Amino acid sequence: MRISPHKCVTRKVGADHPLAGKVVYIPAMAQGSVEAFASVFRWLGIDARPTPPSDERTRELGAKYTSGDECYPAKVTVGDFLKIVEQPGFDPRRTAFMMATEDGPCRFGQYAPYLRRILRDMGFADVLVFSPSGQRGYSDIGDFGTPFVRGTWRALAAADILRKLLLQTRPHETVCGAADKAFEASLRDFCQTLETSCSDYNCQLRALTSSLLRARLRFHNVPACYDREKPLIGVVGEIFCRLNNFSNEDLVRRLEKQGAECWMTDIGEWIEYTNAEEVRDLRLSGHTYSWKMIKSKLRSHIQRSDHESLLAPFREDFIGYEEPSIGEVIELARPYLPFPGAEGEMVVSAGKSAYLAKHGADGVVDISPFTCMNGIVSEAIYPKLSHDYDEIPIRNFYFDGAESDLDRDVGIYLELARSYREKKHYQRRYPDRFSQPERESPACDIDPAA
Ligand code: SF4
Repeated sequence: MRISPHKCVTRKVGADHPLAGKVVYIPAMAQGSVEAFASVFRWLGIDARPTPPSDERTRELGAKYTSGDECYPAKVTVGDFLKIVEQPGFDPRRTAFMMATEDGPCRFGQYAPYLRRILRDMGFADVLVFSPSGQRGYSDIGDFGTPFVRGTWRALAAADILRKLLLQTRPHETVCGAADKAFEASLRDFCQTLETSCSDYNCQLRALTSSLLRARLRFHNVPACYDREKPLIGVVGEIFCRLNNFSNEDLVRRLEKQGAECWMTDIGEWIEYTNAEEVRDLRLSGHTYSWKMIKSKLRSHIQRSDHESLLAPFREDFIGYEEPSIGEVIELARPYLPFPGAEGEMVVSAGKSAYLAKHGADGVVDISPFTCMNGIVSEAIYPKLSHDYDEIPIRNFYFDGAESDLDRDVGIYLELARSYREKKHYQRRYPDRFSQPERESPACDIDPAA
């Protein structure tokens, strides 16, 4: 598909910016999201790309340069970065590794300093480890903090939408691989649109929405036969492992291969949760009436508005798959993990599991790295949550790169989901496509793969 060039001027960082002249590598946490995120950098004039696909060498290098105390996502990201160091022609002074950071009890805050230490010990201290942080107002990106944050939100929200389209279509496709092709073509289209979009936010939003409309058409043209009998499985859990197909051994595809459809928790939900936590922390620290509070609320408001604009063309497609507000997620988690006392991904996983159960899901899987406290705490409260919601089957899947008979476990789990489906009281809403005959002949001239 040809993308027509936009007339507006693309904003660019100057030659004096710390990232100018470098290639920024971004951990490939989630297929689609990382490519879209890299195009935000390129929109700002910074060369950026995802880390290459993870493989056995990722695990070898990750294991070699970690001690065993780190969590699995740390091993995978370290391994992927070190594969770049091994590439012929690697130039440390022209390379930057992006590793975001956050405060809090989770080990994620240690990733960036740890990576810096490994690189220093290997003699590559010249590699810039770029750690944009919300707490520092994204000052690391210089004068481009606001466009960076806004562009990133739009990129991640759009990638969430593309992933939804993929996961809602692929299990029902009648031509093997057609949904993946529609996803890849739509992602290419979106990244190219974002990268070449104008600096005016409204103009950019119009271009991105048009790109998503083209994606919608591609997915509508995927030959498919929508089957109400497929169990719908909600997917929650630790953000990296849940979204990184290498880390979770492609659990979603394995579920699909055994007849399920998956509803994956979005990246956007976590961003909304961190916004809600920021507001809560400001209140607790006596900053209810402060510039920080105004800025935080304004950012949330703008993000919501952008999200609604990007979602607008999909209202009918997403009937029965509506995402809850973050307030609703927190409220649903409150009986198990009260918000002021418990925080982090466990709260989001618990609240979203309850929401999925109430909206007719046939089961929930929680994907977590082995030894991650979020998964461990969630696993402890799931029996009560399951009991409160009709005994919906909720199963934790832990990953650390060790081999296991995953397909057997998936098969057993789906048997439970199928029998729950027969007796559950919470019913699903279905979009119109579930009542239509098989879509064999595309209704328009856009090829899913074009
Ligand atoms: S949530 Fe768990 S696995 Fe993820 S970074 Fe934190 S400690 Fe590690």
